[in-house]
Order: sequence, then structure tokens, then C-alpha cells
Amino acid sequence: MTPRRAACFDARARRTATSSSRAASTSESPVSIRLTILGKSPSWQDRDGACSGYLVEVAGMALLIDCGSGVFAKLRAHHDYSQVDAVIVTHLHADHTLDLVPFAYALTVGPVLRDDRPVLHAPPGARAAWRRLCGAWGSETLIEDAFELREYDPAAELELDRVRVRFQPVPHYVPTNALELRAQGEQGRLVFSSDCGPNEELVDFASGAELLLIEATRLGEPLRDDEDPDEPPGHLTAADAGEIGRRAAVGRLVLTHYSDQLDPEHVRAQAQAVFGRPVELAREGERYEI
Ligand SMILES: [Zn+2]
Ligand SMILES: [Zn+2]
Repeated sequence: MTPRRAACFDARARRTATSSSRAASTSESPVSIRLTILGKSPSWQDRDGACSGYLVEVAGMALLIDCGSGVFAKLRAHHDYSQVDAVIVTHLHADHTLDLVPFAYALTVGPVLRDDRPVLHAPPGARAAWRRLCGAWGSETLIEDAFELREYDPAAELELDRVRVRFQPVPHYVPTNALELRAQGEQGRLVFSSDCGPNEELVDFASGAELLLIEATRLGEPLRDDEDPDEPPGHLTAADAGEIGRRAAVGRLVLTHYSDQLDPEHVRAQAQAVFGRPVELAREGERYEI
């Protein structure tokens, strides 16, 4: 598909990221973080579902965390995609990134254009990886044409309008980062585990968080035939997630990245037995205020 801005689209709206959705809040007024689950599926979608994708809104700023398969359509159901200010990608797995492709087409050839590009904060190596991916069909710079791509340093913090973002590398099959979001002047912290195996770093990073959104992809014992008992797992079981939540003494524990092919109440019960308090299950469209 070739980018085009044909004359037939002359009448369509051109908007900028700062024109409509920024709230009238001042730098002094308290702000909350609103989290909307866009997709909670693991690396294959739930029926009618989407892979990893979470919309975070703070004082009128819209931030998309991860953009896996199916997420762009879910984003459209909850927010004007042309008004997304920034995207943060935790890691370069397909289930966290592939819908950047339709998102990029919408931004570059869709009927609603904007004068700037949303900032895409991605882990080191993203530019080369996406050039290879989109180069497969001759659109090597598709992602960069649509987004202002910045590869972040996981050791550094990001200041996005009134939100501070910190990263914590966690063990997985490829480099990935848990995220902490805190609104300016507020104490409440939202922590997202990204994908990870059991680890101590997440316990420390999430310590005392108001809400920990944590993956619970792995089925646990008995191991599947293709799982090597000598290899550290790259994902958490629901019980692992409950253990991390308990040790981190988080306020709310929300499980995500689990399949709809599992009995959700069994998943919840496994985590709850270890966490010791009620555990919530991420569901698409669900909202949380922090
Ligand atoms: Zn992954
Ligand atoms: Zn994943």
C-alpha cells in the first residue's frame, strides 16, 4: 500500500494531538490515571479479543501501552486513534507490537490526518526490527513515517506530560521491561509486569503499588511436553503472580495475558490462594482509576 493524501480527502479534518483531548487541568490540580484494558489475550487472541494493549489516560493525555494483534480495533472503540499522544512498547514480541502496522497505515493514509506524529517509545533495537518486518512488503519506514520513534534507555525515566514512567528489565525470552506510571504530584503507582518469568526485580519494583497489572500466561504444572524443566520459564503462572503481588504488598492485583480457553475462576483461585486477598481478572473494556 502506498501512502497517499489524495484530493478527495481535502475536506477531511486535520487535527493535532494537542488540539482536542487535552483536559483543562492545571499543573497544580490532582490527576488520576485511568487504565482501560484494550486487549488481555496471550500471544494468540481470545475469541473476539486482542493481544496486549492498554490505554492510559491522564489529564487529557492518551497513552497506549503495547499494541499487539487486534488492539487497534479495540483502541478505536474507546478512543480516537488520531488523538493518541504517545505509545510505549514493552518488548518486540508480535503480541505486543503487530497492530502498530494498521495503526501506522491509519495515521499515514487514513482519512483523518494529523500534523504531527505520536511519539513511539520503543526498546533498543526496535527501529531495525520494524524496518526488517515492514521491509518484507516494501514499506521499510512505515512505522517511522507514522510515529516519532524513540528508542528508550530502560535505565532512564520518561516524563510524558504529567506522567512519569520508569522501567524495570524483567526476565523473558527477549529483553523486556516492566513499567511504572505515576501521575505528577500523586503517590498512586500503576505497575505493569510486561511478560516475565518469576523474578525478584518485579517484587521490588512493584512494592506498595496501588495496582499491579501482572501477566499470568503459564499453565504451570504439569509441564507441557515442549517445556524444559531446566530452563527458567519466560512467563508466570497465576500462582506466581499471586506470590509476587503478596510479597510486593500491592493494593490491587489484576491478572492479564491469560487465555479465554482457561476457566477464569480457576485462574483467579490459583492466584488468590497465594495472594491472600481478592484478585481481579483483566477483561477487555474494563476501567481502573489510580
Ligand atoms: Zn513476550
Ligand atoms: Zn506477550
